[in-house]
Amino acid sequence: LPATAASKILENYTASYDAAVIVELKKAGAVFLGKTNLDELAMGSSTENSAFKITKNPHDLERVPGGSSGGSAAAVADNMALAALGTDTGGSIRQPASLCGVVGLKPTYGAVSRHGAIAMASSLDQIGPITKTVEDAAILFKALAAKDRHDATNVRVNYGDELLNPKLEDIKNMTIGLPNEYFIDGVSPEVRKAMDEVIASLKTLGIKFKEISLPHTKYAISCYYIIMPAEVSSNLARYDGIRYGTREHGKNAKNLIDLYKLNKSHGFGSEVQRRLILGTFVLSSGYYDAYYAQAQKVRRLMREDFDKAFKEVDVILTPVSPTPAFKIGEKTSDPLSMYLSDIFTIPVNMAGVPAISIPAKVEGKLPIGFQLIGKHWREADILGIGQYYEKINK
Ligand code: GLN
Repeated sequence: LPATAASKILENYTASYDAAVIVELKKAGAVFLGKTNLDELAMGSSTENSAFKITKNPHDLERVPGGSSGGSAAAVADNMALAALGTDTGGSIRQPASLCGVVGLKPTYGAVSRHGAIAMASSLDQIGPITKTVEDAAILFKALAAKDRHDATNVRVNYGDELLNPKLEDIKNMTIGLPNEYFIDGVSPEVRKAMDEVIASLKTLGIKFKEISLPHTKYAISCYYIIMPAEVSSNLARYDGIRYGTREHGKNAKNLIDLYKLNKSHGFGSEVQRRLILGTFVLSSGYYDAYYAQAQKVRRLMREDFDKAFKEVDVILTPVSPTPAFKIGEKTSDPLSMYLSDIFTIPVNMAGVPAISIPAKVEGKLPIGFQLIGKHWREADILGIGQYYEKINK
């Protein structure tokens, strides 16, 4: 099938093999219906960066479905498919799931093979399911989490039946952490209210709540916008304007450099170009230590925040996105405000832990998701709590 990643640089590209996740799903008997739209090369939070189409939110056609896996979330929300896949580098499964009212699971880094996924930032990327229910997410995750010799970061973990049959005794003895840094003024009142109701509902199961702190959260966006573009600039070097895509736009090139420039300028949209330039800059000699090396150290501190928190609590609950779905066009001219919509999802990728976005029960027409973050390899905890939340909020 064509594999474009919604980029003109891959406009006529046909995949030459199945990704490991597709191999696993075929083995499990899945039926494939089609491919979905996304932000170009998975860069964005609204699917407006697609080189080909605008995807709309099925709950309100004037609003975005979120991104970058906006097509997958919209397709599941609008009953075009029972489930879809997405990749999540900084929130691209969870944020569109939240804005479209479906479930999105970002597995632990290393749980699902990335072999055959079009790479964005390899130390952050994970593939995961977008589904209607938490149980469906568990079923798909179980099929996806297989050992693949082509991805050296893939780890064989024995995910047992607890993914699908969580026990109430285990769930009700859990303590959930509420990080101060995630319940702040920038969160919209609707989201705040939805979180309060989710917490109240989970308390009825016997789950205990505890305030915690993830003190380095404030560095998440700045740190991500150094590490991610650095990896993007190396991963995307393969799209050099010669291999992949058409050479159409370089046909009047006067020399080789000109040919690269013409084909690449046509092939990449402005958001991708912005990140390539930023990434090349932070890796360049003289700046590497000041930016990239420094960001790696801060990433380490963010991960340690989670390690410390998970000594006190089993799972962490936060909003997925500070607001419900925003209007198409509302943030396109302001990349920084677009970047801020991922403030609650990015730290999870930095730490490599698993997290799920689950639709909260809300009155209004726009869905709002809550996020459950688990310990490394403990998808069972967040899927378990999620399955019980669904049971009591049918
Ligand atoms: N929205 C974030 C970004 O633009 C995350 C993207 C992703 O997870 N693929 O980078």
